[in-house]
Amino acid sequence: MKPVSANLLCASCREDYWTLIRQLGHVQLPALRSIMLRQAHIGPTGHTPSKGNAPMPIDTRAQDLITDSEAWLAEQAGKIRAAYAGYDWRKAWYAIISNRHTILTMSTAADDYASLQHIVRRNEQALTPEDELIIIGTCPKCDSMLTGTPDAETVTCQHCRTEWPAPAIKAARDERLWQVQITGTPSDAAKELKRYGLTVSRNLVSQWLRRGKLHATPTNTKNQYVFNLGELAALLDCHR
Ligand SMILES: [Zn+2]
Ligand SMILES: [Zn+2]
Repeated sequence: MKPVSANLLCASCREDYWTLIRQLGHVQLPALRSIMLRQAHIGPTGHTPSKGNAPMPIDTRAQDLITDSEAWLAEQAGKIRAAYAGYDWRKAWYAIISNRHTILTMSTAADDYASLQHIVRRNEQALTPEDELIIIGTCPKCDSMLTGTPDAETVTCQHCRTEWPAPAIKAARDERLWQVQITGTPSDAAKELKRYGLTVSRNLVSQWLRRGKLHATPTNTKNQYVFNLGELAALLDCHR
């Protein structure tokens, strides 16, 4: 059993914990519920799915995320007062919001905070438009592509559901980038890197070319080169 002090949160964790609680009930659960009811579109609008289209994969996941989120709220509400455990999610959330001190100083606060972080992160990924997700890397277990939000600390495989630390997955990805070549302009190279969450301007790529820092092979077409993505990523790494 953990000593009581291990479950005490410092001031900045309390602050963050409270923000996550507000976010869960105020933003995430309503958004997930409307996705589940197919009232919402993820991403830019202007695209109306016609009848017979396959449903967005996210719809099938929304229910799981809602179940986990609601279970967390019910559990915390039940710790404030046993009868609150039976509340629907909105009332449970209000009970939590109105008992700030009790929640933040609870003997289980550190564990509750950790499990909420996990829940909120998964919700956030589901609620992020696909074009804002980056390629984190490849799942070591099932080889599926892992995508996530740029600053996520962990990434969960949508296929085998395994959770991985994002930095390690990214490091393995950057290793493999040495085997990836693309042919195009500096702007094409910058766009390709963006898919991996690596931000570089086309001007900087051009500058590296002019200064001989980057060893891209020129093609017969003006301003087109064969770039090695691994070399670009490595250069970028020492300019951060
Ligand atoms: Zn802390
Ligand atoms: Zn996997």
